[in-house]
Amino acid sequence: MSERISRYNPARVRELVGTVPVTGAEQVDAVVHAAAAAQRGWAGIEAVARGALLRAAADAVEAQVETLAELLARESGKPRADCRGELGFALTFLRWVADRAPVVLADAETDDGAGRLLLTRRPYGVVAAITPWNAPVILSLLKIGPALAAGNTIVVKPSPLAPLAIDRVVRLLAGALPADVLHVVHGDAATGAALVGHPLIRKVAFTGGEQAARAVAAAAGTTPTVLELGGNDPVLLLDDADLSPEPMRRLVMASFATSGQVCMAAKRLYVPRARRDEFTDAYLRAAEEVLCLGDPLADGVTMGPVITAEAAARVHALVAAAVARGGSALALGRADAGTDLSGGHFVAPTLLVGLADDDPVVAYEQFGPTVPLLVYDDEDEVVARANADELGLGASVWSVDEQRAFRVAKRLEAGFVFVNTHNRTGMALRAPFGGVKRSGHGREYGDAGIAEYAQLCSVHAPAAFRPGGTGASATAYPTA
Ligand code: NAD
Repeated sequence: MSERISRYNPARVRELVGTVPVTGAEQVDAVVHAAAAAQRGWAGIEAVARGALLRAAADAVEAQVETLAELLARESGKPRADCRGELGFALTFLRWVADRAPVVLADAETDDGAGRLLLTRRPYGVVAAITPWNAPVILSLLKIGPALAAGNTIVVKPSPLAPLAIDRVVRLLAGALPADVLHVVHGDAATGAALVGHPLIRKVAFTGGEQAARAVAAAAGTTPTVLELGGNDPVLLLDDADLSPEPMRRLVMASFATSGQVCMAAKRLYVPRARRDEFTDAYLRAAEEVLCLGDPLADGVTMGPVITAEAAARVHALVAAAVARGGSALALGRADAGTDLSGGHFVAPTLLVGLADDDPVVAYEQFGPTVPLLVYDDEDEVVARANADELGLGASVWSVDEQRAFRVAKRLEAGFVFVNTHNRTGMALRAPFGGVKRSGHGREYGDAGIAEYAQLCSVHAPAAFRPGGTGASATAYPTA
Protein backbone atom coordinates (compact mmCIF):
# COMPACT_ATOMS: atom_id res chain seq x y z
CA MET A 1 0.00 0.00 0.00
CA SER A 2 1.26 3.51 -0.77
CA GLU A 3 2.49 5.77 2.00
CA ARG A 4 -0.09 8.25 3.36
CA ILE A 5 0.03 11.60 5.15
CA SER A 6 -2.20 11.62 8.26
CA ARG A 7 -3.49 14.96 9.48
CA TYR A 8 -4.53 15.34 13.11
CA ASN A 9 -6.61 18.25 14.46
CA PRO A 10 -4.25 20.77 16.14
CA ALA A 11 -7.11 21.70 18.52
CA ARG A 12 -7.72 18.05 19.55
CA VAL A 13 -4.49 16.30 18.84
CA ARG A 14 -5.79 12.75 19.02
CA GLU A 15 -8.49 13.38 16.40
CA LEU A 16 -7.51 12.13 12.94
CA VAL A 17 -9.01 14.50 10.37
CA GLY A 18 -8.03 12.60 7.23
CA THR A 19 -5.25 11.23 5.07
CA VAL A 20 -3.89 11.76 1.56
CA PRO A 21 -1.51 9.50 -0.38
CA VAL A 22 2.11 10.59 -0.82
CA THR A 23 2.91 11.07 -4.50
CA GLY A 24 6.15 9.29 -5.38
CA ALA A 25 8.66 10.61 -7.92
CA GLU A 26 7.38 8.23 -10.64
CA GLN A 27 3.82 9.42 -10.18
CA VAL A 28 4.98 13.05 -10.22
CA ASP A 29 6.63 12.31 -13.56
CA ALA A 30 3.42 10.78 -14.94
CA VAL A 31 1.32 13.72 -13.72
CA VAL A 32 3.64 16.32 -15.24
CA HIS A 33 3.65 14.45 -18.57
CA ALA A 34 -0.16 14.35 -18.54
CA ALA A 35 -0.30 18.09 -17.77
CA ALA A 36 2.19 18.79 -20.58
CA ALA A 37 0.16 16.74 -23.05
CA ALA A 38 -3.01 18.67 -22.15
CA GLN A 39 -1.44 22.13 -22.32
CA ARG A 40 -1.65 22.88 -26.07
CA GLY A 41 -5.31 21.90 -26.20
CA TRP A 42 -6.08 24.07 -23.18
CA ALA A 43 -4.18 27.05 -24.59
CA GLY A 44 -6.03 26.53 -27.89
CA ILE A 45 -9.36 27.34 -26.21
CA GLU A 46 -10.16 31.01 -26.69
CA ALA A 47 -9.37 33.12 -23.58
CA VAL A 48 -12.96 34.17 -22.84
CA ALA A 49 -14.14 30.56 -23.15
CA ARG A 50 -11.37 29.47 -20.76
CA GLY A 51 -12.63 32.12 -18.35
CA ALA A 52 -16.16 30.69 -18.58
CA LEU A 53 -14.81 27.23 -17.69
CA LEU A 54 -12.99 28.70 -14.68
CA ARG A 55 -16.23 30.34 -13.52
CA ALA A 56 -18.02 27.00 -13.78
CA ALA A 57 -15.19 25.43 -11.78
CA ALA A 58 -15.62 28.12 -9.08
CA ASP A 59 -19.34 27.28 -8.90
CA ALA A 60 -18.51 23.61 -8.30
CA VAL A 61 -16.45 24.58 -5.23
CA GLU A 62 -19.02 27.11 -4.03
CA ALA A 63 -21.59 24.34 -3.67
CA GLN A 64 -19.36 22.64 -1.08
CA VAL A 65 -18.10 25.67 0.88
CA GLU A 66 -19.59 24.73 4.26
CA THR A 67 -18.12 21.21 4.25
CA LEU A 68 -14.78 22.49 2.99
CA ALA A 69 -14.65 25.24 5.66
CA GLU A 70 -15.16 22.71 8.42
CA LEU A 71 -12.48 20.42 7.00
CA LEU A 72 -10.03 23.33 6.67
CA ALA A 73 -10.77 24.42 10.26
CA ARG A 74 -10.18 20.91 11.59
CA GLU A 75 -6.89 20.36 9.77
CA SER A 76 -5.39 23.87 10.18
CA GLY A 77 -6.73 25.11 13.52
CA LYS A 78 -8.15 28.25 11.95
CA PRO A 79 -11.60 29.39 13.15
CA ARG A 80 -14.43 28.12 10.95
CA ALA A 81 -15.52 31.66 9.99
CA ASP A 82 -11.99 32.45 8.80
CA CYS A 83 -11.96 29.27 6.72
CA ARG A 84 -15.32 30.17 5.18
CA GLY A 85 -13.90 33.62 4.46
CA GLU A 86 -10.76 32.22 2.86
CA LEU A 87 -12.77 29.94 0.58
CA GLY A 88 -15.15 32.74 -0.40
CA PHE A 89 -12.31 35.14 -1.14
CA ALA A 90 -10.46 32.50 -3.17
CA LEU A 91 -13.55 31.98 -5.34
CA THR A 92 -14.05 35.73 -5.71
CA PHE A 93 -10.45 35.93 -6.87
CA LEU A 94 -10.89 33.05 -9.35
CA ARG A 95 -13.96 34.69 -10.88
CA TRP A 96 -12.17 38.04 -11.08
CA VAL A 97 -9.23 36.42 -12.88
CA ALA A 98 -11.57 34.60 -15.25
CA ASP A 99 -12.97 37.95 -16.39
CA ARG A 100 -9.82 40.04 -16.14
CA ALA A 101 -7.24 37.75 -17.78
CA PRO A 102 -8.56 38.10 -21.35
CA VAL A 103 -8.17 41.89 -20.98
CA VAL A 104 -4.70 41.79 -19.40
CA LEU A 105 -3.38 39.15 -21.80
CA ALA A 106 -4.90 40.49 -25.01
CA ASP A 107 -2.60 41.11 -27.99
CA ALA A 108 -1.61 44.73 -28.50
CA GLU A 109 -0.69 45.89 -32.00
CA THR A 110 0.61 49.22 -33.21
CA ASP A 111 1.24 50.17 -36.79
CA ASP A 112 2.92 53.54 -37.29
CA GLY A 113 5.81 55.26 -39.01
CA ALA A 114 8.29 53.00 -37.23
CA GLY A 115 6.63 49.81 -38.46
CA ARG A 116 4.20 47.22 -37.24
CA LEU A 117 4.64 45.78 -33.76
CA LEU A 118 2.58 43.01 -32.20
CA LEU A 119 2.93 42.28 -28.49
CA THR A 120 1.53 38.88 -27.71
CA ARG A 121 1.55 36.77 -24.55
CA ARG A 122 2.24 33.07 -24.59
CA PRO A 123 1.71 30.62 -21.75
CA TYR A 124 4.83 29.01 -20.30
CA GLY A 125 3.62 25.40 -20.42
CA VAL A 126 3.28 23.42 -17.19
CA VAL A 127 3.48 25.41 -13.94
CA ALA A 128 4.53 23.89 -10.60
CA ALA A 129 2.90 25.47 -7.53
CA ILE A 130 4.27 24.81 -4.04
CA THR A 131 2.11 26.20 -1.25
CA PRO A 132 2.22 26.49 2.56
CA TRP A 133 -0.31 25.30 5.11
CA ASN A 134 -1.48 28.60 6.62
CA ALA A 135 -3.91 29.63 3.87
CA PRO A 136 -3.79 26.63 1.53
CA VAL A 137 -6.87 27.48 -0.50
CA ILE A 138 -6.27 31.13 -1.35
CA LEU A 139 -2.51 30.68 -1.75
CA SER A 140 -3.08 27.82 -4.22
CA LEU A 141 -5.88 29.61 -6.09
CA LEU A 142 -3.63 32.67 -6.51
CA LYS A 143 -1.48 30.41 -8.71
CA ILE A 144 -4.10 28.09 -10.23
CA GLY A 145 -6.37 30.92 -11.43
CA PRO A 146 -3.88 33.07 -13.34
CA ALA A 147 -1.86 30.08 -14.60
CA LEU A 148 -4.93 28.42 -16.14
CA ALA A 149 -6.43 31.68 -17.37
CA ALA A 150 -3.20 32.35 -19.26
CA GLY A 151 -3.31 28.93 -20.98
CA ASN A 152 -0.84 27.01 -18.83
CA THR A 153 -1.61 23.74 -17.12
CA ILE A 154 -0.61 23.41 -13.47
CA VAL A 155 0.39 20.87 -10.81
CA VAL A 156 -0.07 21.95 -7.18
CA LYS A 157 1.81 20.53 -4.20
CA PRO A 158 0.25 21.72 -0.94
CA SER A 159 1.90 21.49 2.46
CA PRO A 160 1.58 18.11 4.20
CA LEU A 161 0.42 20.09 7.26
CA ALA A 162 -2.90 21.06 5.62
CA PRO A 163 -3.45 19.02 2.46
CA LEU A 164 -7.08 17.89 2.92
CA ALA A 165 -9.30 20.84 2.01
CA ILE A 166 -7.12 22.00 -0.88
CA ASP A 167 -7.03 18.42 -2.20
CA ARG A 168 -10.84 18.48 -2.40
CA VAL A 169 -10.91 22.00 -3.84
CA VAL A 170 -8.48 21.04 -6.61
CA ARG A 171 -10.47 17.90 -7.42
CA LEU A 172 -13.72 19.88 -7.60
CA LEU A 173 -12.12 22.49 -9.86
CA ALA A 174 -10.46 19.84 -12.04
CA GLY A 175 -13.75 18.00 -12.44
CA ALA A 176 -15.23 21.06 -14.14
CA LEU A 177 -12.25 21.53 -16.49
CA PRO A 178 -10.79 19.51 -19.40
CA ALA A 179 -8.82 16.44 -18.30
CA ASP A 180 -5.30 16.93 -16.95
CA VAL A 181 -5.12 20.74 -16.97
CA LEU A 182 -5.06 20.82 -13.14
CA HIS A 183 -3.48 18.27 -10.81
CA VAL A 184 -2.59 17.96 -7.14
CA VAL A 185 0.29 15.91 -5.75
CA HIS A 186 1.13 15.35 -2.09
CA GLY A 187 4.22 15.01 0.02
CA ASP A 188 6.98 16.95 1.69
CA ALA A 189 10.24 18.33 0.33
CA ALA A 190 10.97 15.18 -1.73
CA THR A 191 7.72 15.44 -3.71
CA GLY A 192 8.23 19.19 -4.07
CA ALA A 193 11.77 18.76 -5.36
CA ALA A 194 10.69 16.06 -7.85
CA LEU A 195 8.01 18.41 -9.17
CA VAL A 196 10.05 21.62 -9.32
CA GLY A 197 13.06 19.91 -10.87
CA HIS A 198 11.04 18.07 -13.53
CA PRO A 199 12.36 18.97 -17.00
CA LEU A 200 8.85 19.70 -18.35
CA ILE A 201 8.12 22.35 -15.69
CA ARG A 202 8.39 25.80 -17.26
CA LYS A 203 7.50 28.05 -14.32
CA VAL A 204 7.58 27.65 -10.55
CA ALA A 205 5.34 29.53 -8.14
CA PHE A 206 6.31 29.09 -4.48
CA THR A 207 4.90 30.48 -1.25
CA GLY A 208 6.60 29.58 2.01
CA GLY A 209 9.65 30.14 4.14
CA GLU A 210 13.18 31.13 3.14
CA GLN A 211 14.79 27.76 3.78
CA ALA A 212 12.41 25.89 1.48
CA ALA A 213 12.64 28.75 -1.03
CA ARG A 214 16.39 28.26 -1.33
CA ALA A 215 15.92 24.55 -2.06
CA VAL A 216 13.13 25.29 -4.54
CA ALA A 217 15.20 27.94 -6.31
CA ALA A 218 18.15 25.53 -6.54
CA ALA A 219 15.93 22.74 -7.95
CA ALA A 220 14.31 25.20 -10.38
CA GLY A 221 17.70 26.21 -11.80
CA THR A 222 17.02 28.42 -14.84
CA THR A 223 13.26 27.88 -14.72
CA PRO A 224 11.61 31.22 -13.84
CA THR A 225 10.15 31.51 -10.34
CA VAL A 226 7.71 33.58 -8.34
CA LEU A 227 8.78 33.46 -4.68
CA GLU A 228 6.38 34.71 -1.99
CA LEU A 229 8.29 34.49 1.29
CA GLY A 230 8.02 35.61 4.86
CA GLY A 231 7.65 39.07 6.35
CA ASN A 232 8.38 40.92 9.56
CA ASP A 233 5.85 43.66 8.98
CA PRO A 234 6.24 46.90 10.95
CA VAL A 235 3.19 48.92 12.04
CA LEU A 236 3.83 52.67 12.30
CA LEU A 237 1.25 54.40 14.47
CA LEU A 238 1.90 58.09 13.77
CA ASP A 239 1.36 60.60 16.57
CA ASP A 240 -2.12 61.45 15.25
CA ALA A 241 -3.30 57.81 14.88
CA ASP A 242 -6.89 57.06 15.88
CA LEU A 243 -6.73 54.79 18.94
CA SER A 244 -10.49 54.36 19.28
CA PRO A 245 -11.93 50.82 19.66
CA GLU A 246 -12.78 50.15 16.03
CA PRO A 247 -9.27 50.66 14.53
CA MET A 248 -7.72 49.03 17.60
CA ARG A 249 -9.80 45.87 17.11
CA ARG A 250 -8.62 45.83 13.48
CA LEU A 251 -5.01 46.18 14.59
CA VAL A 252 -5.31 43.37 17.14
CA MET A 253 -6.71 40.99 14.53
CA ALA A 254 -4.00 42.07 12.06
CA SER A 255 -1.52 40.42 14.43
CA PHE A 256 -3.56 37.53 15.82
CA ALA A 257 -5.71 36.21 12.96
CA THR A 258 -4.59 32.61 12.25
CA SER A 259 -2.76 32.83 15.61
CA GLY A 260 -0.20 35.17 14.07
CA GLN A 261 0.82 32.58 11.49
CA VAL A 262 0.41 34.84 8.47
CA CYS A 263 3.17 36.19 6.22
CA MET A 264 1.66 39.69 6.29
CA ALA A 265 0.61 39.73 9.94
CA ALA A 266 1.36 42.92 11.88
CA LYS A 267 4.56 41.76 13.59
CA ARG A 268 6.21 44.87 15.11
CA LEU A 269 4.14 47.69 16.65
CA TYR A 270 5.88 51.11 16.71
CA VAL A 271 4.08 53.59 18.97
CA PRO A 272 5.03 57.23 19.76
CA ARG A 273 6.58 57.37 23.25
CA ALA A 274 4.13 60.04 24.37
CA ARG A 275 1.16 57.80 23.52
CA ARG A 276 2.50 54.49 24.85
CA ASP A 277 0.23 54.20 27.91
CA GLU A 278 -2.84 55.39 26.05
CA PHE A 279 -2.08 52.86 23.28
CA THR A 280 -1.46 49.98 25.68
CA ASP A 281 -4.79 50.56 27.44
CA ALA A 282 -6.68 50.86 24.15
CA TYR A 283 -4.99 47.76 22.74
CA LEU A 284 -5.68 45.58 25.80
CA ARG A 285 -9.33 46.70 25.80
CA ALA A 286 -9.75 45.94 22.10
CA ALA A 287 -8.09 42.54 22.51
CA GLU A 288 -10.50 41.70 25.32
CA GLU A 289 -13.40 42.35 22.96
CA VAL A 290 -12.12 40.68 19.86
CA LEU A 291 -9.71 37.87 20.81
CA CYS A 292 -11.23 34.60 21.94
CA LEU A 293 -8.90 31.59 22.05
CA GLY A 294 -10.51 28.21 21.62
CA ASP A 295 -11.66 25.37 19.40
CA PRO A 296 -11.96 26.54 15.78
CA LEU A 297 -15.42 25.00 15.49
CA ALA A 298 -16.82 26.73 18.61
CA ASP A 299 -19.02 29.79 18.11
CA GLY A 300 -17.34 33.11 18.87
CA VAL A 301 -13.79 31.78 18.74
CA THR A 302 -11.48 34.09 16.77
CA MET A 303 -8.13 32.42 17.44
CA GLY A 304 -7.36 28.71 17.34
CA PRO A 305 -4.26 26.69 18.18
CA VAL A 306 -0.95 26.96 16.31
CA ILE A 307 -0.26 24.30 13.72
CA THR A 308 2.10 21.88 15.53
CA ALA A 309 3.58 21.13 18.93
CA GLU A 310 6.95 22.41 17.58
CA ALA A 311 5.37 25.74 16.60
CA ALA A 312 3.85 26.08 20.09
CA ALA A 313 7.20 25.28 21.76
CA ARG A 314 9.00 27.77 19.49
CA VAL A 315 6.62 30.63 20.37
CA HIS A 316 6.68 29.78 24.10
CA ALA A 317 10.50 29.86 23.97
CA LEU A 318 10.54 33.22 22.16
CA VAL A 319 8.24 34.76 24.76
CA ALA A 320 10.25 33.24 27.64
CA ALA A 321 13.50 34.58 26.17
CA ALA A 322 11.99 38.06 25.75
CA VAL A 323 10.90 38.04 29.40
CA ALA A 324 14.35 36.80 30.47
CA ARG A 325 15.84 39.80 28.64
CA GLY A 326 13.76 42.21 30.73
CA GLY A 327 10.54 42.39 28.71
CA SER A 328 7.04 41.77 30.03
CA ALA A 329 4.34 39.63 28.43
CA LEU A 330 0.86 41.12 28.85
CA ALA A 331 -1.95 38.58 28.44
CA LEU A 332 -4.50 39.43 25.76
CA GLY A 333 -8.11 38.48 25.14
CA ARG A 334 -10.00 35.65 26.78
CA ALA A 335 -10.42 31.89 26.42
CA ASP A 336 -13.52 30.04 25.27
CA ALA A 337 -15.07 28.41 28.33
CA GLY A 338 -16.05 25.25 26.46
CA THR A 339 -12.60 24.45 25.06
CA ASP A 340 -10.08 22.16 26.76
CA LEU A 341 -6.94 24.16 25.97
CA SER A 342 -4.70 21.35 27.20
CA GLY A 343 -5.98 19.10 24.40
CA GLY A 344 -4.40 21.08 21.55
CA HIS A 345 -1.46 23.25 20.50
CA PHE A 346 -2.90 26.39 22.09
CA VAL A 347 -0.67 29.40 22.78
CA ALA A 348 -2.23 32.26 24.73
CA PRO A 349 -1.82 35.60 22.90
CA THR A 350 0.52 38.18 24.42
CA LEU A 351 1.72 41.75 23.91
CA LEU A 352 5.44 42.08 24.65
CA VAL A 353 6.65 45.37 26.10
CA GLY A 354 10.03 46.71 27.14
CA LEU A 355 12.07 45.11 24.34
CA ALA A 356 14.76 46.50 22.05
CA ASP A 357 14.84 46.07 18.27
CA ASP A 358 17.56 43.42 18.52
CA ASP A 359 15.43 41.03 20.59
CA PRO A 360 14.83 37.91 18.44
CA VAL A 361 11.06 38.35 18.64
CA VAL A 362 11.48 41.79 17.05
CA ALA A 363 14.33 41.04 14.67
CA TYR A 364 12.88 37.84 13.13
CA GLU A 365 9.48 36.70 11.87
CA GLN A 366 7.88 35.20 15.03
CA PHE A 367 5.00 33.54 13.11
CA GLY A 368 2.94 33.04 16.26
CA PRO A 369 0.49 34.77 18.64
CA THR A 370 2.77 37.32 20.27
CA VAL A 371 3.66 40.83 19.17
CA PRO A 372 6.18 43.37 20.50
CA LEU A 373 5.26 46.98 21.29
CA LEU A 374 8.19 49.34 20.62
CA VAL A 375 8.35 53.07 21.28
CA TYR A 376 9.86 55.79 19.07
CA ASP A 377 10.44 59.52 19.25
CA ASP A 378 10.33 60.89 15.70
CA GLU A 379 9.25 60.01 12.20
CA ASP A 380 12.72 59.66 10.61
CA GLU A 381 13.74 57.37 13.43
CA VAL A 382 10.75 55.07 13.11
CA VAL A 383 11.09 54.85 9.33
CA ALA A 384 14.75 53.87 9.71
CA ARG A 385 13.92 51.25 12.34
CA ALA A 386 11.04 49.85 10.26
CA ASN A 387 13.36 49.53 7.27
CA ALA A 388 16.25 48.00 9.24
CA ASP A 389 15.11 44.49 8.40
CA GLU A 390 16.13 42.01 5.76
CA LEU A 391 12.49 41.29 4.98
CA GLY A 392 10.18 43.64 3.12
CA LEU A 393 6.76 42.10 2.64
CA GLY A 394 4.12 44.31 4.23
CA ALA A 395 3.96 47.36 6.51
CA SER A 396 1.30 49.76 7.68
CA VAL A 397 0.94 53.43 8.54
CA TRP A 398 -1.84 54.64 10.83
CA SER A 399 -2.81 58.33 10.81
CA VAL A 400 -5.96 60.43 10.56
CA ASP A 401 -4.14 62.41 7.84
CA GLU A 402 -4.19 60.22 4.73
CA GLN A 403 -1.78 62.46 2.79
CA ARG A 404 0.74 62.18 5.58
CA ALA A 405 0.25 58.42 5.82
CA PHE A 406 0.92 58.03 2.08
CA ARG A 407 4.06 60.20 2.34
CA VAL A 408 5.41 57.95 5.09
CA ALA A 409 4.26 54.81 3.23
CA LYS A 410 6.40 55.72 0.23
CA ARG A 411 9.49 55.74 2.47
CA LEU A 412 8.93 52.17 3.67
CA GLU A 413 10.80 49.26 2.10
CA ALA A 414 7.84 46.94 1.67
CA GLY A 415 5.99 45.42 -1.26
CA PHE A 416 2.59 46.36 0.20
CA VAL A 417 1.88 49.21 2.63
CA PHE A 418 -1.56 49.28 4.24
CA VAL A 419 -3.03 52.56 5.49
CA ASN A 420 -5.10 52.46 8.71
CA THR A 421 -5.36 48.69 8.50
CA HIS A 422 -3.06 45.71 8.03
CA ASN A 423 -3.21 42.11 6.83
CA ARG A 424 -6.27 40.64 5.12
CA THR A 425 -8.62 43.60 5.65
CA GLY A 426 -6.29 45.75 3.55
CA MET A 427 -6.02 43.47 0.53
CA ALA A 428 -7.68 44.18 -2.83
CA LEU A 429 -8.04 41.97 -5.90
CA ARG A 430 -6.55 44.73 -8.08
CA ALA A 431 -3.58 45.50 -5.80
CA PRO A 432 -0.45 43.45 -6.59
CA PHE A 433 1.05 41.77 -3.52
CA GLY A 434 4.60 40.51 -3.02
CA GLY A 435 7.87 41.25 -1.34
CA VAL A 436 10.94 43.41 -1.74
CA LYS A 437 14.36 42.59 -0.28
CA ARG A 438 14.40 39.01 1.05
CA SER A 439 10.64 38.61 1.04
CA GLY A 440 10.78 37.28 -2.50
CA HIS A 441 10.08 38.39 -6.03
CA GLY A 442 7.15 38.39 -8.42
CA ARG A 443 3.61 39.45 -7.61
CA GLU A 444 0.23 37.88 -6.89
CA TYR A 445 -3.15 39.64 -7.26
CA GLY A 446 -3.76 42.46 -9.69
CA ASP A 447 -2.94 42.58 -13.37
CA ALA A 448 0.71 41.95 -12.49
CA GLY A 449 -0.28 38.67 -10.82
CA ILE A 450 -1.94 37.54 -14.05
CA ALA A 451 0.92 38.73 -16.26
CA GLU A 452 3.33 36.53 -14.23
CA TYR A 453 1.93 33.49 -16.05
CA ALA A 454 2.47 34.62 -19.64
CA GLN A 455 5.60 35.50 -21.54
CA LEU A 456 5.59 38.72 -23.47
CA CYS A 457 6.70 38.15 -27.09
CA SER A 458 7.20 40.67 -29.90
CA VAL A 459 6.51 40.36 -33.63
CA HIS A 460 8.03 43.29 -35.49
CA ALA A 461 8.10 44.44 -39.13
CA PRO A 462 10.32 47.58 -39.36
CA ALA A 463 8.78 50.20 -41.65
CA ALA A 464 11.90 50.47 -43.80
CA PHE A 465 11.71 46.81 -44.84
CA ARG A 466 7.98 46.51 -45.43
CA PRO A 467 6.79 46.31 -49.03
CA GLY A 468 7.15 49.82 -50.46
CA GLY A 469 9.41 50.86 -47.57
CA THR A 470 12.44 53.09 -48.01
CA GLY A 471 14.93 50.33 -47.24
CA ALA A 472 17.94 50.93 -45.01
CA SER A 473 21.55 49.97 -44.62
CA ALA A 474 22.13 46.28 -43.90
CA THR A 475 24.25 47.16 -40.84
CA ALA A 476 22.79 50.33 -39.30
CA TYR A 477 21.15 50.42 -35.86
CA PRO A 478 17.58 51.69 -35.75
CA THR A 479 17.02 55.28 -34.67
CA ALA A 480 13.72 54.61 -32.90
P1 NAD B 1 7.57 25.99 4.32
O1 NAD B 1 8.58 26.81 3.64
O2 NAD B 1 7.99 25.06 5.38
O3 NAD B 1 6.77 25.08 3.26
C1 NAD B 1 6.18 25.65 2.10
C2 NAD B 1 6.00 24.56 1.06
O4 NAD B 1 7.28 24.18 0.55
C3 NAD B 1 5.35 23.27 1.58
O5 NAD B 1 4.48 22.77 0.59
C4 NAD B 1 6.55 22.36 1.78
O6 NAD B 1 6.22 20.98 1.75
C5 NAD B 1 7.40 22.76 0.58
N1 NAD B 1 8.83 22.44 0.66
C6 NAD B 1 9.62 22.45 1.76
N2 NAD B 1 10.88 22.14 1.41
C7 NAD B 1 10.88 21.94 0.07
C8 NAD B 1 11.89 21.59 -0.87
N3 NAD B 1 13.13 21.36 -0.50
N4 NAD B 1 11.54 21.47 -2.18
C9 NAD B 1 10.26 21.70 -2.58
N5 NAD B 1 9.26 22.01 -1.73
C10 NAD B 1 9.57 22.14 -0.41
O7 NAD B 1 6.49 27.03 4.84
P2 NAD B 1 5.24 26.84 5.80
O8 NAD B 1 5.68 26.52 7.18
O9 NAD B 1 4.23 25.92 5.16
O10 NAD B 1 4.68 28.35 5.76
C11 NAD B 1 5.25 29.34 6.56
C12 NAD B 1 6.10 30.33 5.79
O11 NAD B 1 5.46 30.75 4.60
C13 NAD B 1 6.34 31.60 6.58
O12 NAD B 1 7.67 32.04 6.46
C14 NAD B 1 5.39 32.60 5.93
O13 NAD B 1 5.73 33.94 6.13
C15 NAD B 1 5.47 32.18 4.51
N6 NAD B 1 4.29 32.65 3.77
C16 NAD B 1 4.44 33.62 2.81
C17 NAD B 1 3.32 34.12 2.13
C18 NAD B 1 3.43 35.21 1.08
O14 NAD B 1 2.48 35.41 0.33
N7 NAD B 1 4.53 35.92 0.97
C19 NAD B 1 2.05 33.60 2.43
C20 NAD B 1 1.96 32.61 3.41
C21 NAD B 1 3.08 32.13 4.07
